[in-house]
Amino acid sequence: MTKILDGKIVAEKINADSAILVKKLTEKSVTPKLVIVIGTNNKSLLSYVKGLSKQAEKIGILAEIIEVSETSTNKYEEILNKLSSDPSVHGIILQTPLPDSVDAAALSALVPVDKDVDGINPASAGRLLANEKSFAPATAEAVITMLDYYNIGLSGKNVAVLGRSMIVGKPVASLLINRDATATICHSKTQNLSEITKKADILVVAIGRANLVNADYVSRGQVIVDVGINFNEDGKIVGDVDFNNVEAMTSAISPVPGGVGPVTAALLLKHTCEAALSTL
Ligand code: NDP
Repeated sequence: MTKILDGKIVAEKINADSAILVKKLTEKSVTPKLVIVIGTNNKSLLSYVKGLSKQAEKIGILAEIIEVSETSTNKYEEILNKLSSDPSVHGIILQTPLPDSVDAAALSALVPVDKDVDGINPASAGRLLANEKSFAPATAEAVITMLDYYNIGLSGKNVAVLGRSMIVGKPVASLLINRDATATICHSKTQNLSEITKKADILVVAIGRANLVNADYVSRGQVIVDVGINFNEDGKIVGDVDFNNVEAMTSAISPVPGGVGPVTAALLLKHTCEAALSTL
């Protein structure tokens, strides 16, 4: 029978652990603080970060949202430099996408590694690649955390990763390799994609194409983690995997919504607690 990889259960466990960390920190007179910097022109992102900050406050983390109405790189630079040197701030999220006029790549290097709770600084990415201590991008780590929670082993497994972005595909592949899996990164120019996906033990799908991965890409008994968040014609949130079409073929599959998303949010908060702990 197919196991549903329920992200809400995993997130609850992570949040409970974070609440314990918060207690430890407050006993030492430290209150962890997360600051989210966001361009104000994106309403759905704004509602996502408001949800995240409410969740943070529920477990005792201070959360501040800085809405930036100016669209110059300089304004963001100024804000990030201030947060970087503020000892009361432990975690910084520079929420993407940023306005087109802003140099997002240059700004990502301004989030100091010790506060880079979503692993966007190229130095954090380098450390991840080198299997050194750093915060991995939370979504990428969420994939591994889900598999670990449900005792799905990684060592020696063949994993096809669909998508090569710096926030999901590439860091997922690094995390997998660091755990002794064999990762094949696929992208829009990959030839014979279905031949690669069908041979894998595990598929991690992060392409941003609603329901693209159907039964033609899947073989019986596979594990599938669906990272995608898309809206279908009816305005409903769906993943990159055609869940109804492939569920019965898989041994385990994550749903959308309720899969990777809640785990990502919980890990951002956990990282903030860990960043605060490392200042003690
Ligand atoms: P990007 O758009 O940055 O990257 C998409 C990747 O998918 C690219 O590497 C692209 O290839 C590849 N791709 C696109 N179409 C195909 C195709 N037909 N076949 C194979 N590969 C393809 O997206 P992100 O990595 O930022 O996000 C991916 C998905 O994950 C989105 O749906 C996003 O909403 C979701 N997401 C979910 C999060 C969560 O918390 N659950 C957090 C972050 C993202 P190429 O490089 O060649 O263009």
